[in-house]
Amino acid sequence: MLWKDVCEIFRNIENTTKRLEKRAQFIKLIDKVKNPEDLKRICYITIGRVFPEWDEKELGVGEKLLINAIVSSGINKDKLLKAIHETGDIGLAVEKLKKEKKGTNLLFYQPLTVEDVYKTLKRVAEIEGEGSQKKKLRLISSLFVRANPLESRYLARLILGDMRIGMNVPTILEALSIYYNVPKEKLEKIYSVVNDIGLLAEKLAKNELDESLTIQVFRPIKPMLAQLTPSIEEALLEMGTAQFETKYDGARVQIHKKDDKVKIYSRRLEDITNSLPEIVNEFKKLPGEFIVEGECVAIQEGRPRPFQDILRRIKRKYDIHKISKEINLRVYLFDILYKDGKSYIDIPFKDRRKALEEFVGYENDWKKDREKIEKELKEHKIIDISYKLVTNKVDEAREFYNWSLDIGHEGVMIKNLKAPYTPGSRVRTMYKFKPTLENLDVVIIKAKKGMGKRKDWYGSFEIAVRDEEGNLYSIGHVGTGLSEEDLEMLKKEIDKIILEDLGDEVVVKPEIVLEVAYEEIQKSDKYKGGYALRFPRVVRFRFDKGKDDINTLDDVKQIYEIQRSRK
Ligand code: AMP
Repeated sequence: MLWKDVCEIFRNIENTTKRLEKRAQFIKLIDKVKNPEDLKRICYITIGRVFPEWDEKELGVGEKLLINAIVSSGINKDKLLKAIHETGDIGLAVEKLKKEKKGTNLLFYQPLTVEDVYKTLKRVAEIEGEGSQKKKLRLISSLFVRANPLESRYLARLILGDMRIGMNVPTILEALSIYYNVPKEKLEKIYSVVNDIGLLAEKLAKNELDESLTIQVFRPIKPMLAQLTPSIEEALLEMGTAQFETKYDGARVQIHKKDDKVKIYSRRLEDITNSLPEIVNEFKKLPGEFIVEGECVAIQEGRPRPFQDILRRIKRKYDIHKISKEINLRVYLFDILYKDGKSYIDIPFKDRRKALEEFVGYENDWKKDREKIEKELKEHKIIDISYKLVTNKVDEAREFYNWSLDIGHEGVMIKNLKAPYTPGSRVRTMYKFKPTLENLDVVIIKAKKGMGKRKDWYGSFEIAVRDEEGNLYSIGHVGTGLSEEDLEMLKKEIDKIILEDLGDEVVVKPEIVLEVAYEEIQKSDKYKGGYALRFPRVVRFRFDKGKDDINTLDDVKQIYEIQRSRK
């Protein structure tokens, strides 16, 4: 399929704000694609990717390299920089200049196909070692030489990983469901396990929705997420009997093992195997093939260490061996998704827990095993199973909750014993309950240039939450809670992701996630979402999260209600 034909539909999609119209355009696109392989590529491209969502491989081409590649395809650098400044978008800038450029004769060239674009960019991603930048530049430039103005717009955006056409996976799934006449729920369910929109589309096109689209070792699954609950009472009222578990404040890990190989994935499905060698070793000793999930906590003298300690381990730039000597890690397993050829996704939580207990060989049942658990707090133990209490009694649950806080953890999880594992969704079958008002995970959307003491950095940051469709809503500005080191780091990171320079502030790609605390949530007319944070303060960076993992406007509403009911 020609790249030009895809780009024309992308333009139609971009030109409408209506989701249904976007979907209709995408259906038109599916209808035009004749070959399943191309459909697969187009699905990845539509969400600004070259690799599947579960694969952490990236193109690794920054703005600078892209600009140089465009320039070497025959565009004037000064004009390009000026146009980028004016439009705030390299895609539109290169399109504009290509249009202006007279005498380009694309007739000499073979028209670009989707395959050309896709395969070339894949090669770009694979180039490593000496002279790699030059080679990358040459390949990218060869695409721009052949691209017409509109084709260049989407080429540039694809390379930066942001198509700006307002398409997302849910809309693609809907379009596929309509076109291939398969229920949307069925596709959503398969997608939540394979996490690969291209593969799913390709299989649909080939009429092969089969076995290969189930859970598989080394293909990470989007984790099931929890909802907030205002109180233990309410959760129990809803669930009757529930399993309470200690809520650990660490990093969520998904551990996959097959033969002698173990891989560990973060909550964002990044492969973090290399940063956790002692955990890998321990899981290697366990028999069989499996996928289990847990929370990885740093422990010192029997008490959990602050979350930052564990994050530091997972961010690979630190000296792993040095740190691992000082701090012990423990993984508290809390779910099992697969074991020896059998998927556990659809079976009730009660049975999954039982399988997990058989897997580790004991229960950690707070009622029966409290003494053993307390004794083991100080022991060096790498794999453990979360502490549980199955009850329908509020008093008992509250006692367990207080005990969990006393031993240094952050609260409890409340789980419905009958519920299946629902990957990637925030469900009412799993609640979290913590003593303080929930901090919010927000993403930076703008940064204000600093003044006075902060003149070399950005001084404050506009932060946003999202809705279910991924639209962002500003909920205020934050400037406190940041050290000079943080500001320095933010300056560097933000400069890499600027989309538009507005003079005294810059609009940035929504990538940097912050956890913020605040005094309270207020209703506000100033912001489109209708809420604002009063006195927000940065608690920590959440490099383990991306813009899809931030809190939603619904969370904000819910916390607002909880806060009101507590007053
Ligand atoms: P959320 O990520 O917002 O759904 O909050 C729940 C998070 O708490 C999970 O993602 C886990 O990382 C973490 N967590 C800590 N302890 C547990 C537990 N016992 N069961 C499930 N999740 C837990």
